[in-house]
Amino acid sequence: MTTRLEAGADVPGCPKHMTYGPCGGVRDDLGCEVEPVPCPFVAAPGPVRWTGPTAPPRPEPDLFVRARGRPVVLTDLSVPPYDAATLQRTVAGLSDACDAILVGEHHDDPDFPPTMLASLVRDAGGHPWITLTCRDRNRVVLEQELAGLAATGTDGVFCVTGDARAPGVRPDVTQVFDLDGTRLTGLAAAAGLPVAVPEAPDAPPRGHRAGRLAQKQLAGAQLAVLNHAGSAARVAAFAAAVRAEGASLPIVAGVAVYTDEPSARRLQAYPGLELDPRRVEAVLAAPDPVAAGIDAAVAEARELLAVDGVAGVNLSGRGTSAGLGESTAIKAEIGRRIRSGT
Ligand code: SF4
Repeated sequence: MTTRLEAGADVPGCPKHMTYGPCGGVRDDLGCEVEPVPCPFVAAPGPVRWTGPTAPPRPEPDLFVRARGRPVVLTDLSVPPYDAATLQRTVAGLSDACDAILVGEHHDDPDFPPTMLASLVRDAGGHPWITLTCRDRNRVVLEQELAGLAATGTDGVFCVTGDARAPGVRPDVTQVFDLDGTRLTGLAAAAGLPVAVPEAPDAPPRGHRAGRLAQKQLAGAQLAVLNHAGSAARVAAFAAAVRAEGASLPIVAGVAVYTDEPSARRLQAYPGLELDPRRVEAVLAAPDPVAAGIDAAVAEARELLAVDGVAGVNLSGRGTSAGLGESTAIKAEIGRRIRSGT
């Protein structure tokens, strides 16, 4: 059976059928992340303009209301799939140290449906921000999930186009991409949900990234979560470019959490994600890499929070290869220190 993704390779264009591209996976040579073709969006003079409906007014996300003016701390949730008990134990370990739990959706690690994940996180005392990607669900199913999340409750949704499934991973299933992240943002906003969107400041073509984020705000985004961008100076330049594009949405900057070589390597493998190599080297060479990694993450967070327009940070990465309990403890310690300013 021919998948839509395979069919897309037969014609010039985007294999993900994106309207509001480019995605965050454009390669350094400006080629497509999916097929050996140039990405058609990079030659355009600027980002594709949002032409959908104006997003309805919605209240400020609860995340900021709860924080009452201090920076917010989000954390990625990294747990084994289809394991409710482990998920809830992990959330319980993070919920008093972080303001929200960002629940991912991975091409090689499917998990419970998003509506169920939101309930599990909430029941464990966390505030869920649920990732929805366009890879594994057609438009109807995305509409169902948005309606379900709006009815049962979530802190917010994180609307992402999604990376394509790697070769050899579940070759028996199609990859849908009826929508892209920007159009999904429009649907989520219309459903009345608080919406966050990703952007990768250092992903090529860099010149499109700030304008692309401004278009996502027009579609309904209320919060931007950035990939790591190598340095606070780079985030500051990006935030200024976003403002110059007329966007005002708060930015949550990525903080890399790693305390050993495998956890650093795992983060470095993501396209469009940059770590400071000197910082990585200093942590890995320290006599106590766990303490050094925690200190490095807190220091990076402080630098990022000093940037105009940055309202919070997102702790990403597993932090350690030692185990989930250790990972949770490391991220909780970092979250507590950032929130308390110690
Ligand atoms: S890099 Fe992304 S946006 Fe560009 S053609 Fe490939 S899938 Fe489409």
